Amino acid sequence: MSLQADYYDGKSARRIPVVLAPLADTVVLSGEGFERSVPLSQVRISERLGSAPRLISFADGAHAEVRDHAGFELWLAAVGHRERPVDLLQRSWIAAGLSMLLVAIAVFVGYLWGLPLMAEKISAHMPDIVVQRMSDHVLDLLDGHVFKDSELPADRQQKISEAFAALAGEQYGEQYVDRPVELLFRASPRLGANALALPDGRIVLLDELVNLADNDEQILAVLGHELGHVRYRHNLHALVQGAAISAVLAWWIGDFSSVIAAAPAAVMQARYSQALESEADAFAASLLKSHGLSPELLAQMLEKLQASANERKVEHAEVSVPAPKVDDKDQRQKPDDNDYWTPYLSTHPATQERIRALREAG
Ligand SMILES: [Zn+2]
Repeated sequence: MSLQADYYDGKSARRIPVVLAPLADTVVLSGEGFERSVPLSQVRISERLGSAPRLISFADGAHAEVRDHAGFELWLAAVGHRERPVDLLQRSWIAAGLSMLLVAIAVFVGYLWGLPLMAEKISAHMPDIVVQRMSDHVLDLLDGHVFKDSELPADRQQKISEAFAALAGEQYGEQYVDRPVELLFRASPRLGANALALPDGRIVLLDELVNLADNDEQILAVLGHELGHVRYRHNLHALVQGAAISAVLAWWIGDFSSVIAAAPAAVMQARYSQALESEADAFAASLLKSHGLSPELLAQMLEKLQASANERKVEHAEVSVPAPKVDDKDQRQKPDDNDYWTPYLSTHPATQERIRALREAG
């Protein structure tokens, strides 16, 4: 085979029709009274760009133009020309699309697995004193913004505390945290029926939840669930993870105050995954059973919480809440925004699946 081309010497505009010979590793051009032979490694071959002629450029400024694209590809193969992989990739929209997809996947994987893994490592090595300081800070903020003093009579508090100590004591106690488990009593009309565990293991019980329960065993069932979150350090992970996300966002936004603001939100609004909820439920179920109580108690409480959350949702819908202003620094993440605090069930998604699993555990 041979290939037609036009040769220009780079000095004159004269076109010399030539033929390219299929000789390995060599560019051999022959025309009327003209012959040129150059090693393939000493010429530059232009990339394919639409229907533009392909150029073979020589070091002395001469070049040959080829318009027969299909023939040129055959000739390139015959002489043993290899396109650089980067040229091939640059041409390929598929490769470009794929690499964008890979970046997106890497970011997603990093967020989904990298961050929790990092949070887990950090929280596993976090000194107790730091955990306690963080917990104090969170409690201070909650006390300042959403908590009120409990109105439960002292003897009622005493009774619940003793039952809780008996439940938590044997299996839990000082085995998992550096301080004895402690139950704190607060009220919060805003939060409604709720209980939450601080990262250092203290558990806050709200009057509204006490009042919602039919009996103390149901309250203990919820506290057992919170002990599960403490046992597996779920909320510490959430706090570290929330702080990490806020730190990254703050770095982008350039405002580090949001790191502090996000701390209580991380505890309150951490949407524990279904897997973590199930882990806490399973812990509660076995704790209850070891004390001669049925996991059914927690299932009952979940149903009551769900019903109460649905009522609150209806109430909430009737009140118009102004949307928080994002552009106003002071308004950002201000705990006074009515829709800032989420009810128990959005932080502890109660599904029929959880209730069913608890009834099976019983
Ligand atoms: Zn939970």
